[in-house]
Amino acid sequence: MELFDEGLHSGVNLALNVEKVVYREKTDLQDLMIFENSQFGRVMSLDGAVQTTEKDEFIYHEMFVHVPVLAHGKVSRALIIGGGDGGAARQLMKYKNIAVTMVDIDRTVVELSKKYMPSVSGGAFDDPRLNLIIADGCKFVQETDEKWDVIIIDSTDPHGPGEVLYTQEFYADCKGCLSSGGIIITQNGVPFVQESELRTSYDRLSNLFKDVSFYLAAIPSYVGGVMAYGWATDEQDHRKVSLSRLVERYVEAGIATDYYTPEVHLAAFALPLHIQKMLTRED
Ligand code: SAM
Repeated sequence: MELFDEGLHSGVNLALNVEKVVYREKTDLQDLMIFENSQFGRVMSLDGAVQTTEKDEFIYHEMFVHVPVLAHGKVSRALIIGGGDGGAARQLMKYKNIAVTMVDIDRTVVELSKKYMPSVSGGAFDDPRLNLIIADGCKFVQETDEKWDVIIIDSTDPHGPGEVLYTQEFYADCKGCLSSGGIIITQNGVPFVQESELRTSYDRLSNLFKDVSFYLAAIPSYVGGVMAYGWATDEQDHRKVSLSRLVERYVEAGIATDYYTPEVHLAAFALPLHIQKMLTRED
């Protein structure tokens, strides 16, 4: 049996049985593999790092999308940078009145996700409300004059083409694309094995926004414990939204979820002490 061996974090390896290789190609940007695993179903990896799996993608994408959208309460335009597997787009399409722009650098990721892992995008790519642009997200936010209420940075980790999506300049350009009261959410890795990414994003976002924090979810296929979503906005009330208000919005939106609940939303922002200390530690 072939083993997929993810060595994303030094000293730590995640080995997954490869029951069947569905697709493997070095696109001109990334080494893309889709394979079958008995626990996770179909798994997509880019440059040797697990991106998404059929079985646990709902956790990752529901928390990426419903936390900012329901905290904000009046989202009509959302921008996804990255997210080529279509999972974030699928969650956003659950809202009738949200127009989505999605900017991914690699068309092959989109095409292969649609073809070999259709449950992840769930038809989102065929939804007329989705405007898909194949481009470098970093350049896109530099050049556009459009604004969005929520920007979801569903990027690979800060290596290869994804590296530019963690810079101060990129965050500043994203801020320039936010409508007032808008929220930016980042994929910020697994704090226990990516402490420096967490702290760097925290410091860079804190230079730009009044309210910066993280919220957590455990994604079974991401090794090392809970993963962190970066949260940045100038509207400090968004994180203080009450449970009853969230319940109201969740019910009104009429969306079906399998992980997200308003209670989980609020609890996700409760950072355990060791993660709080990562954010305040004097080097
Ligand atoms: N869940 C994954 C994770 O946590 O690492 C991310 C999933 S998604 C597949 C990552 C996407 O980022 C890929 O489709 C990749 O093509 C895209 N990407 C990487 N660098 C990019 C860039 N500079 N601009 C736009 N998209 C980029």
